[in-house]
Amino acid sequence: MLKRLKKNSFLVFVAIVYIGLFAINGEKAILSIKNSGYYIKEMLTVMPLVFLLTALIDTWIPQETIMDYLGDESGLRGSFISIFLGSVSAGPIYAAFPVCKTLLQKGASISNIVVILSSWAVIKIPMLANEAKFLSPKFMAVRWIFTTIGIIIMGYMVSKVVKRDDIPIEEKAIELGKILIKEEYCIGCGICAKMAPEHFKIENNKAIIIDENIHGEIDGDVDKAEQKCPTKAIEVGRAKEFESDIHREIIEEG
Ligand code: SF4
Repeated sequence: MLKRLKKNSFLVFVAIVYIGLFAINGEKAILSIKNSGYYIKEMLTVMPLVFLLTALIDTWIPQETIMDYLGDESGLRGSFISIFLGSVSAGPIYAAFPVCKTLLQKGASISNIVVILSSWAVIKIPMLANEAKFLSPKFMAVRWIFTTIGIIIMGYMVSKVVKRDDIPIEEKAIELGKILIKEEYCIGCGICAKMAPEHFKIENNKAIIIDENIHGEIDGDVDKAEQKCPTKAIEVGRAKEFESDIHREIIEEG
């Protein structure tokens, strides 16, 4: 029971806020519940379509394509594609989160995810059309230019602060002392097999693990392969206290 409450701590928090609101002002609490009900109803109509879209992206768009067009190396081209994707999208902003999470899992960069979300929120095409009609085309064009520049800069800044590891993505739990390859991330570049051939080999354009056990507390070759893997597909189950030492050593070695 306690575990369940902990897992749904946000819902518990909302319930406590409602109880508090009822105690202070019953009328406002009822109004608030009605508003929440309206948004829940709206979400129930929108979200099935969004989940269908995420499933299609996941199934039909190869990881290499997403990494090529929206990945860390996609540069300004990736930013403009992200602006386009955000601008032509339909639906409320909360629909963008599951889509962006799927793109992130398939290799899109943090900065491009910020650009998609921001474009989705503030420069959607129907919004621009209305803006031009009510506030003049000149107003719309100037705002679009400055907003676009701002969004790209913001994406860059967020990517410097927020790292992929900061974002909760459901993955297989990794055991201490074991190696895991996130298969969907692997592009079969072969770097791991070159750096740690006793642990990895390439088959059918994917890395597979020959020996999943780390021998000793630190296995340098595996750590280097983990660091050099361009898609961060390799994970090593190690005690937390070793992680900072390993990363420092690798950075010092260059
Ligand atoms: S280095 Fe990474 S992406 Fe390249 S083959 Fe190994 S696991 Fe796959």
